[in-house]
Amino acid sequence: MGRLQRGPCRIQPSMQHIYSDPTFEMACDQFHLIADYLQIPDNLRERLMYPKRSVAVAVPVRMDDGSTKVFQGYRVQHHLSMGPTKGGTRFAPGVTLGEIAALSMWMSWKCALTGLPYGGAKGGIDCDPRKLSTGEMERLSRRYMQEMIPFIGPHTDIMGPDMGTNEQIMSWFMDTYSAHQGHAVPGIVTGKPVSVGGTYGRRESTGRGTVYLIERAAHQLKLKLSGGTAVIQGYGNVGAVAARGLAYKNGMKVIAISDISGAYRNDDGLDIKEVDKHVEKYGALAGLSGADSIPVDQLLTTPCDVLIPAAVSGVINRGNAAKIQCRILAEAANGPTTVDADKVLFQRWNEIFVLPDILCNAGGVVVSYFEWVQSLQSFFWNETEVVDRLFRVLEQSFGAVIKRAKEERIPHRLAALAIGVEKVMQAKKVRGLFP
Ligand code: NAD
Repeated sequence: MGRLQRGPCRIQPSMQHIYSDPTFEMACDQFHLIADYLQIPDNLRERLMYPKRSVAVAVPVRMDDGSTKVFQGYRVQHHLSMGPTKGGTRFAPGVTLGEIAALSMWMSWKCALTGLPYGGAKGGIDCDPRKLSTGEMERLSRRYMQEMIPFIGPHTDIMGPDMGTNEQIMSWFMDTYSAHQGHAVPGIVTGKPVSVGGTYGRRESTGRGTVYLIERAAHQLKLKLSGGTAVIQGYGNVGAVAARGLAYKNGMKVIAISDISGAYRNDDGLDIKEVDKHVEKYGALAGLSGADSIPVDQLLTTPCDVLIPAAVSGVINRGNAAKIQCRILAEAANGPTTVDADKVLFQRWNEIFVLPDILCNAGGVVVSYFEWVQSLQSFFWNETEVVDRLFRVLEQSFGAVIKRAKEERIPHRLAALAIGVEKVMQAKKVRGLFP
C-alpha cells in the first residue's frame, strides 16, 4: 500500500470545462489513485484518462401535442487502442457529457479487465423516459441514432443498452442505422431482441454475472448464502434479475428493495414473484404490498449479508460508508461508491468483501461481446453456450483480481482497475500516439 497516496484531482482547466461533472471528477480521482499506484508518468496519464472523441448532438423530436422539443444527446469514445469502442446508452434526466465520459472511462477498464477487444464508450440523452409516450420515445431513439451515424459503425463504435433503454430501443437503433446502409447491420448494437439477431442471455447477463460473482465471493468467505439476507437498490433489468437469482437459485431472503419511486422492507423476505407482478402491472415499486415502506436513505444501511447497489452512481459515500452493514458489497451499478467511501471500505476490508463495479457488472458487456461476434458471423449460439462462456470469463477475471489483491495487499477495486489500466497502457505504448 506504500504507493497509495492521492494527490488533488488534476483535470486540465479546459477539459474541466468540457467534462465538468461530479461523476467525471470521481472517475478521474479514481484513475489518479491507480496511476499513482502504478507510477504512470504524467504524459501517459493524460492519454489514458481523457476521452479520445466526444460528440454532442441536438436531437429535435416532434412531440405528440404537435410541438417540437430539442433534446441534448452525447456519445463518448474513450480510447481506440484495442479495437472498436463499446458501450451502452443512458436515457435519464440530467445526463451530462461529463457523466457519459466517466462511464466511458469505466467501460475501458472493464473491457480490458475481462479481456474484450474494445475501448470503452458510452452514450446518453438528457430526457425523462417516464414522461415520453411510446411514439415520442421511438422518434427520439431513431433521431439520436440518425445524428450518430457519421461517428459509429460495427467496426468503429457499437452501442448497447443502459439505464432507461431496452431491447425495443436497441431495435429502433439497429433499424435506423440499417435503413441508412440499405441492408441489415445487426452488429451496430447489442442488447437487441433475438428476433433481429440478438443473443440468448443478454437481457439477464448483468444480473446473472453479479449473482455468479456473489457465489464466488461467498465461497471465498465460507459464507452460506442459503437462508441469508440480501438488499437491492434499483429494481430494473439488473436489480430484478439479481433478486431472482439470489432468491430462487440460492435460497436467499431479499429483505429490502428500492427504485426511483420508493423503498420497501420485509424481514421475512419479499415474495419476488409478487414484486415482479406488481412492477409488470404498475411499472414501478410504488404501492407494493406485503412489505413496509421505509425511507429511501435507510435502504443501503439495512443489515444484510449481500448488498447490491443496482441503480445510480455515488450512492455509497462519505455520509453512509461507515454505516453499511453487509458481508458482500456487490456493485452492480456503475460507480456506486465514491473515492471517499472507498477509503472507509478499505479500512473495513475484514468485514466487507467488495466486488468492484468493473468486475461485478461485467457480465453485461461480456455477453454483448458474444452478441457482436455472433452478429458479425451470422452464426448463433444457444443459451447454455452463452452462459458457460460468460461464467468462464468471469471466473478468470475474478481469479485475477483476487490473486493480485492478495499478492500486493491492495483493495479489490485497486487490483481490478490496475489490471484494466495496465492493459490499456501497454496497448498505447506499443501502438504509438494515434489511438
Ligand atoms: P434500468 O433502467 O433497467 O433500472 C434502473 C433502476 O434503478 C430502476 O428500478 C429505477 O427506478 C432505479 N433508480 C433510478 N434512480 C434511482 C435512485 N436514485 N434510487 C433508487 N433507485 C433508482 O437500468 P439497469 O439496466 O438495471 O441498470 C442499473 C445500473 O446497472 C446502472 O448503473 C447501469 O449503468 C448498470 N449496468 C447495467 C448494465 C446492463 O446490462 N443493463 C450493464 C452494466 C452496468
